[in-house]
Amino acid sequence: MSEGYLELGPIRPPSEAHSLLIRATRNCPWNRCQFCHTYKGEKFELRPVAEIKKDIATVKLIQDKIKEVSWQSGYGGDVKEAAAMVLSSPDNVAFHNIALWLSAGGESAFLQDANTLIMRTPDLVEVIKFLKETLPTINRITSYARSKTAAKKTLEELKKLHQAGLSRLHIGLESGYDPLLQYMDKGVTAAEHIKGGRNIVASGISLCEYVLLGLGGKLMWREHALETARVLNKIGPDFIRVRTLTINNRMPLYDEIENGDFIRANDEEILEEEKLLIEHLECHSNFVSDHVTNLLQEIEGKLPGDKERMLAAINRFQALSPEERTNFKVGRRAGIYYELDDLYDSHKHEVAEQIIHRLSQGGSEVDEETIYTLMERFI
Ligand code: SF4
Repeated sequence: MSEGYLELGPIRPPSEAHSLLIRATRNCPWNRCQFCHTYKGEKFELRPVAEIKKDIATVKLIQDKIKEVSWQSGYGGDVKEAAAMVLSSPDNVAFHNIALWLSAGGESAFLQDANTLIMRTPDLVEVIKFLKETLPTINRITSYARSKTAAKKTLEELKKLHQAGLSRLHIGLESGYDPLLQYMDKGVTAAEHIKGGRNIVASGISLCEYVLLGLGGKLMWREHALETARVLNKIGPDFIRVRTLTINNRMPLYDEIENGDFIRANDEEILEEEKLLIEHLECHSNFVSDHVTNLLQEIEGKLPGDKERMLAAINRFQALSPEERTNFKVGRRAGIYYELDDLYDSHKHEVAEQIIHRLSQGGSEVDEETIYTLMERFI
């Protein structure tokens, strides 16, 4: 069932797993962050509006084809059922994305790549309107953006985008601590994070800010936590999403670690950093931990009401014996555990013990390097 060619970018936020992916620009216009490898070596390009529209029209063709399959398979034109059926044997990655999107109801779209807001506002408005006209089941359109770009757009422009149908922007805040932002070559200051974030909130577009736990390493973790909380309090985003620093040799930060300039924090230190961050958050945001890299994914809730419950999860981990903390860290990083309660699953606990035994060659201690390696297998 080959139907046209669709261009796809490499990533989307975890929360957009079932969104239709439309590539509005290629790669990242900044591309210098030390902890990011996603677009390294790739050149940023704006795609012509006509080309983006052609992709959207191709999605419509594939959607119609899936409808045909639905009739032929006895689903009476129900796209959702037919899409679920073809999901098991999609023609290509783009087809898989469309089938996944349709099987989830076909309501959400995500515009790739790293900073869609850099498009001229009239062009982006045109793309969003065309997307909604061509695929009318879509009622939610989201994208990535940089704070710096959001700070440069006028409130009027952002409001126009919201009125056209842009529902949410995902921004990589990473940190609110200026020396750390500079060290990581994030290309944005805390003040620009605040201005960009507040612009978006004022426009009515929902805002999700991503914080990178562990980014301060062993030396700047405290300032990272405190300044990030300060910046987030000033923005008041709808969502704060945390993920944990992972390293690979395609990131410039890898060399800084190798030459000893950046010293990574371990899981327990990062948890202490997260505790300090949460303690100082005073905004009314949803705090989300839905990333596999986070040690405790159960640290989630609506601030400020759930703050104590979230901190209690951290306290609960910290109150475990050293042996049980190691068991959990290894079990979690090996993909056996999801949450602290899994420690009480005797089978899982035993599997984690066996892994510890193997990794420590008969001992009970597993070093930090080994735990990092286990975690980074998932990335
Ligand atoms: S702005 Fe985002 S995508 Fe671009 S280099 Fe930085 S982290 Fe990576």
